[in-house]
Amino acid sequence: MERKQILAASTSIVLLVLSLTNCKTKSDSDDENLLLLAAVASQRVCANSSFTGTTVVNSTATLDTNTDCITGMTSSMSSDLPAWIRNNFKCAVGSVSGSNYVFRSQNIPNNKSYYFGSSSPMYEALGSGQKSAGNNQISSQCLVYSIPSSPAEKSGSKTGTQSGYVSVGITVNGLAIFNNAAAPGDTLASEVQTFDQYNGHPQSSGVYHHHSQPLNVSNNNANLIGILLDGFPVYGRDCRTFAGVTSTPGDLDSNHGHTTTTTHFSSAIYHYHYTNDTTAGTNTLIGSYFHGTPGTVSN
Ligand SMILES: [Zn+2]
Ligand SMILES: [Zn+2]
Repeated sequence: MERKQILAASTSIVLLVLSLTNCKTKSDSDDENLLLLAAVASQRVCANSSFTGTTVVNSTATLDTNTDCITGMTSSMSSDLPAWIRNNFKCAVGSVSGSNYVFRSQNIPNNKSYYFGSSSPMYEALGSGQKSAGNNQISSQCLVYSIPSSPAEKSGSKTGTQSGYVSVGITVNGLAIFNNAAAPGDTLASEVQTFDQYNGHPQSSGVYHHHSQPLNVSNNNANLIGILLDGFPVYGRDCRTFAGVTSTPGDLDSNHGHTTTTTHFSSAIYHYHYTNDTTAGTNTLIGSYFHGTPGTVSN
């Protein structure tokens, strides 16, 4: 105990919290990290070295070319996550907790955006024909997703994606996925005009998000885009089966999904595609309902 206290005092909040929660020391780091993260999250100390990294400040934000995330942000996927997540997701902290995947994200894009503000090194003007979404600017968030690791179709009536979720999924680059609706009084088809050059924009409290394909992740191809709150993956416009066959699927259900093998799943699995959405009047990452039972997300 004495040794722990000295370490805690001389090193970091990591060890301090470990001593407070009576965790094992040293090697069993996954368990420790989960307990630590739970403790830190409950205090809403989101951006620190043991959570999602240093709080990003727009005026000094730069891209770390090693992680391809904003400098200071933690990009870490725990070793017990399945390969399709571990090898593809970044700019967030991913772990396994019981029967859920947990993602924690500051939700700052690793692409330039008008919405970093003109004083930011990450600033980029809007594309031609685009217009500003008022004074909205990107800001650091404390998003915590708990997503079922064994997703299954929900029997009976499906859960709506427009039911007040702060986000309905997370992209492979750690960003919020929003549904097929715009802010009240607007349609998504017209809100598309406010997207930056990577198809994202922030809402009024600075939550940067994609309704449409994130253009530095997928651009009308079969790339993995992310995971939705019900645990099923979402891919780009096209579908590449495990056998390597790529085509634009013609058998999607009204929720943008179908069941086939994919690049990452040798057994057929339900998955979503970026496709035309009749409610939105444009292509979106998700329709009006989840196929499975959604997990939880807080901010
Ligand atoms: Zn939006
Ligand atoms: Zn598919």
